Amino acid sequence: MPEAFCATCDCNVEVETVEDTTLVMCLMCGEEFVAPANVDSSKFDHYAVGLVTSVDSINKTGLKKVMVDVTGSGDSIQVLTNAKYVSVNWRVVVAKEEHYPLV
Ligand SMILES: [Zn+2]
Repeated sequence: MPEAFCATCDCNVEVETVEDTTLVMCLMCGEEFVAPANVDSSKFDHYAVGLVTSVDSINKTGLKKVMVDVTGSGDSIQVLTNAKYVSVNWRVVVAKEEHYPLV
């Protein structure tokens, strides 16, 4: 995670970039502010936002099989997660496949 100075928290905090804007969001207080130039957004090139299209619990494992439609690609990918809370129509961050090629 990149860090930036949050005026509300009055310290350096971990921040998250806000999609399609120059804003970042403070992970401590949720305040959004303009990203300083030193936030390296290229770190996020490997990630995309996807839309959850289905969630299936896998019996006894505590895992869920989640199908994610990666925005813009038109393809659904299957993700296994142990997340407790995930639901259809949620937007989630996924790692792009081309950076993690199957062996
Ligand atoms: Zn803050």
